[in-house]
Amino acid sequence: MSNIVGIDLGTTFSALAILNAIGKPEIVPNADGERLTPSAIFFDEENADVIRVGLEAINSRHLNAQRSVRWIKRHMGDAGYSKKIDGKDWSPVELSSLILKKLKQDSSVEHGEIKDAVISVPAHFDEIRRKATMDAGTMAGLNVIGIVNEPVAAALYYATTRVINGRILVYDLGGGTFDVTIMDVKGTQMDIVCSQGDHALGGVDFDAQILKMLEQNYKEKFNAELIASEEDRAKYEDEAEDIKKTLSRRESAKKMLYGSAGSMRAEITRDMFEEAISSLMARTDILVEVALEEAGSKPSDIDKVILVGGSTRMPIVQQRLEKMFGFAPETAVNVDECVALGAALHAGLAMIREKPDEVPVGIASGLKDINLTDVCNHSYGTVCAPVDKETGKRVLQNRIILKKNTPLPCEASQTFYTVSKGQTAVEVTITQGEDSAVEYVNKIATHKLELPPNRQAECPIKVTYSYDVNQRMHCKFEDLESGKALAVDLSINKNGEMSEEDSANKSKQNCKVES
Ligand code: AMP
Repeated sequence: MSNIVGIDLGTTFSALAILNAIGKPEIVPNADGERLTPSAIFFDEENADVIRVGLEAINSRHLNAQRSVRWIKRHMGDAGYSKKIDGKDWSPVELSSLILKKLKQDSSVEHGEIKDAVISVPAHFDEIRRKATMDAGTMAGLNVIGIVNEPVAAALYYATTRVINGRILVYDLGGGTFDVTIMDVKGTQMDIVCSQGDHALGGVDFDAQILKMLEQNYKEKFNAELIASEEDRAKYEDEAEDIKKTLSRRESAKKMLYGSAGSMRAEITRDMFEEAISSLMARTDILVEVALEEAGSKPSDIDKVILVGGSTRMPIVQQRLEKMFGFAPETAVNVDECVALGAALHAGLAMIREKPDEVPVGIASGLKDINLTDVCNHSYGTVCAPVDKETGKRVLQNRIILKKNTPLPCEASQTFYTVSKGQTAVEVTITQGEDSAVEYVNKIATHKLELPPNRQAECPIKVTYSYDVNQRMHCKFEDLESGKALAVDLSINKNGEMSEEDSANKSKQNCKVES
């Protein structure tokens, strides 16, 4: 029997939950006894093989910021980002795998081997970021049986701990990302309607606004810079976060600032803070409105608003939502832990589907009534070149094959035709986005399908995209005449380009993560 776990790989904190004997998820504390592990990494100065993850890494950051990494989730899937430590370039996938490795290692002390896991991602994460997250899991020695959207995981946990019915809006504002998901819930039957989000909007952006105010205060008083080094920055980033949290409880917060020109006492009020973050909050409002529109709903159609993510503790979040919907959002669930808890439930459901023999009877019966229908979070298409009726010329166009918000699992095919006589290859491109204009969609992979020689034009090429319930997408390009086919796996190679090879298998890690 294997352990079944769900992991919330967060921007600021990560958590791991395991299903107990009767299928109830429980958070597994880390080696420090903490239920949440800071998503922070520190490369030891004395011993190059030792990498610290979690609380110790946060503390060490103040001593040597160059050897520390935080908020790596913001760079997930970013082929251009790496952190150089002792001559090695660490990719976001490799760095994230260190956090996952720490969670896996710490949990296995009490529970034995941790292998099968579901990892959560923001609902709006694109295919590249999803695949990067899976690769990080594989690199950490996990068998990633699925990916679940964070708001879906949170709602799943929520729906299994209380009775809810109706159209629910999940508002998820975490450390680095924002997601809004609308779903229809009837007991434990959950149907996702749509999601919207921003992968660069969260707690660290609010902290940055406070840090800016502290720096301004210091400059006004001393006409000098408060921050002189990366270590100073690390220290004041943490002070700024502390002020932000205090402002969730009190009207004002004070801090001593120690710069090279002297020390001073700074005071930030909640009003000042809320003014400074007003444009960021306006972005969340817009995304809520877009989600409502996509769901064909008015605010009055929403029966409940569920809060997820640590940043929803800010009073301004709750006030704005109350004003928009006319009732207070639900705050009863633990906003920091519900994603990991829901991801563990999702892992249980995935195991029942994929490896039923390995699921203990108690867990299977604990989960038997849960029914979840998720949707595809983006539209996926391909680039084709139809003839323009007016000009008679071929123009490049994006043709959507899988439409956004289609219930999962789903599969769709379209047939395209080769352009010229004797054509021996077609370039196939997988796109993500809603527009028919090629320049307004994201090209997530381009490959070549080789064709037999000496053929006429207009040979049919069938393109099939499918999206499974574990949030994995599969693409197939098929030359119908010859039967030749190309199946595409979306991953990023060592040079940061899309390839069919699995980067997680290529790059091996020999470093030790300290528990
Ligand atoms: P999460 O990604 O859900 O773990 O959320 C982490 C974010 O929540 C961090 O940016 C924290 O600073 C923020 N956070 C936690 N508690 C509070 C609070 N009381 N007030 C404001 N933000 C908070």
